[in-house]
Amino acid sequence: MKLIVAKFGGTSVGTIDRIKSVALKIKKEVTNGYNIIVVASAMAGETNRLIKLVEKITYNHKNSEYDTVISSGEQVTSGLIAIALKELGVKSKSYQGWQIPLETDNNFSKANIECIKKENITSDLENGYVIVVPGFQGVYKNRITTLGRGGSDTSAVALAAAFKAIRCDIYTDVDGVYTADPRLVTNAVKLEKITFEEMLELASQGAKVLQTRSVALAMNYNVKLQVLSSFENKSGTFIINERQKDMEKTIISGITYTSNEAKITLFNVNDKPGQAAIIFGALADQGINVDMIVQTSTKDGEATDITFTVLQSDLLIAKNTIDNLKNKIEFNNMIEDSKVSKVSVVGSGMRTKPGIAKIMFKTLADNNINIQVISTSEIKISVLISSNYTELAVRTLHDAFGLDK
Ligand code: ASP
Ligand code: MG
Repeated sequence: MKLIVAKFGGTSVGTIDRIKSVALKIKKEVTNGYNIIVVASAMAGETNRLIKLVEKITYNHKNSEYDTVISSGEQVTSGLIAIALKELGVKSKSYQGWQIPLETDNNFSKANIECIKKENITSDLENGYVIVVPGFQGVYKNRITTLGRGGSDTSAVALAAAFKAIRCDIYTDVDGVYTADPRLVTNAVKLEKITFEEMLELASQGAKVLQTRSVALAMNYNVKLQVLSSFENKSGTFIINERQKDMEKTIISGITYTSNEAKITLFNVNDKPGQAAIIFGALADQGINVDMIVQTSTKDGEATDITFTVLQSDLLIAKNTIDNLKNKIEFNNMIEDSKVSKVSVVGSGMRTKPGIAKIMFKTLADNNINIQVISTSEIKISVLISSNYTELAVRTLHDAFGLDK
């Protein structure tokens, strides 16, 4: 069986006309001899609308009824796509998450997939049906679960892995992954290929084309992923493993940014073993994800400053958590800054090519942009800067690394 999983994002199914053209696209693949599992998102804006409905009743809602409500957008689109396919003479059948079943754990509103039962869908596929599945949905012991915002990408990749699809096509409103956000950098170019690791860094550093989890899953199961536009008839960006990529050619794949973090600095923290463990342990216990961390160098027994970043949405509880540690750690004062952006340069060529940091820091210096915090991974360098300079930094770095060529 030559199976393709094709996932359509919210704008791709945003109107009945769009759904009809999705059906035409699928029909074409069927005519070309492929078996298809379609994964449908809710119509654009629908999940937000559903969440607001719940929040008109309560904010204390992260339970199974919440998932029952917010998963319903996908039920509608999966049914509509199946109907549109039948109108075109294509045999098709929708399966809700519980009908497959796609089993998850009981983390309602951000559940993890545990197992996909394949029997029913397999026999339908063998009988020539196009299977239409709602993204985002799963089931935990007969209760509906959802996989977190943007979770349809993860549904698609998981299905592609389970059914050993030859490809997982993620149809969206952009035609691929770009060297930078095209709304910010007009000469950004579409990448033909990018590695899983690079995509993982880009996705987690703010490029919004794919849910980060879905990229990690695709990497683990070596699912061949393509991001492409449902509005155009051309190939998109392939996300592949490193071996398949011509490493010599591209050193840097993209520049990305996030503006949703805040910086906290603790001054004159007592310099003795265990202080960082207490601070970051307490934050972890509150479920707060800390991103960048720097500690100034110290002479034993004196004081040190610790700076770190958290999501702006976690800032308040982060500050309260630290305040509550006053009897366990000593520090002079705590300051916060929400007007910061994290700008990252990502590329697997960094592993072998020296001098990337030099170009990055020189470019920022030439533009008089002050670096507040630096962090790196093997294939990424991130800097925290004042958010006033986000656009300037992204544009000038894009030029400095010659990404427009
Ligand atoms: N509809 C869900 C959301 O908006 C899932 C998805 O589209 O990926 O987050
Ligand atoms: Mg999405």
